[in-house]
Amino acid sequence: MNSKVRGAPSPKKEGLKRTHPTHTSPESPNKRPRPYPVTPQVRRAHWLMPRCDDRDKDLWYPDGNVIIYRYSEGRARWFKLYRTRLAQYCGFFDTLLSSSGSAETTPQLEGCPVYTVPAEVSCDGLSAFFGMLEKPRELSLKPLTQDLAISLVQTAHALSCSVVFEYAQQSLSELWSRDTLPGDSPVDAARTVTWKEAMVMITVARKCGVLEILKRAFYELLVSEDFWVIHDVDSATIDLPDEDIYRLREMRLYLNREWPKFVITPPQTDEKGKTKCTPTGYHPPFACEMQNCQRRNTWLNFALDDEGLDTGARDPLRYNLVKRRAVTLEKTWCQWCLNNKEEVWNNLRMEWWGVLGDMMKI
Ligand SMILES: [Zn+2]
Repeated sequence: MNSKVRGAPSPKKEGLKRTHPTHTSPESPNKRPRPYPVTPQVRRAHWLMPRCDDRDKDLWYPDGNVIIYRYSEGRARWFKLYRTRLAQYCGFFDTLLSSSGSAETTPQLEGCPVYTVPAEVSCDGLSAFFGMLEKPRELSLKPLTQDLAISLVQTAHALSCSVVFEYAQQSLSELWSRDTLPGDSPVDAARTVTWKEAMVMITVARKCGVLEILKRAFYELLVSEDFWVIHDVDSATIDLPDEDIYRLREMRLYLNREWPKFVITPPQTDEKGKTKCTPTGYHPPFACEMQNCQRRNTWLNFALDDEGLDTGARDPLRYNLVKRRAVTLEKTWCQWCLNNKEEVWNNLRMEWWGVLGDMMKI
């Protein structure tokens, strides 16, 4: 664990501004006479001295007893916290703070040991993570945004903190649910997902073990026109294993075959092409009262002209043909037939959703 401490960014390497130990700003605690002996560790810590505005104002406890910092992407973040709490909730800090001998080699600042965190933790991620750990009630008053949930999952995974990980994981699982079909949840209806967003989710899912979000993420790739354009032009730029691409292509072909079968089949029709509709109270030109052959042709005239044949094929689990074309269909087809057609679609959606899981092996 000492390697993490030794891996702390040096001012020369990482561009941290050196602050001379005797230099003090009005807000600096060093304005007071320094009560600590100037040991080599203290001198080293002062090389790492944060600018005052790099300190997290809410998470710099005057009586804290450990200082954590992270320097990434040209900026730093510093926190003064309680070591007992960090060790209690985070496996990473538990190991780091309990490792024997670290006190002798760890930089000291304001009488506290100074540690950094694994490289994959960002400044913003660390700030959000400590905020969640120290003030969970404040943050839990409103739902996590997707970006915040991703950041928390990644940070909690790197720091081995199950409490924050599970909380953020729950948010991602709701946003990328495998238990509701695409288009069915209010959350789903209110957003548009890009294929790059889906790629991020696949990476996070696999790296952090949030595998339940994979299915929805793969579906969003499957239905993205932009994804298939990139796939055709330069598939090497898509950062996915070959087997994923192969399985997605297979699934795309499967839906391309299945969707037209659904669209061109007249409602309420048995295997022999005979109508099962027994309308009462309807009058011609209702298709439901036509002969079987004429009835089928009436449906085909609608289906083959309808944009749903192509548009719906792109995203068949969201394309409710009956609802979208209700105005046209209700002029010719009885409500029983239309309800049946919608029910068939709903059953097929569940079947296709299951096939997606099987085909992607998730
Ligand atoms: Zn009918």
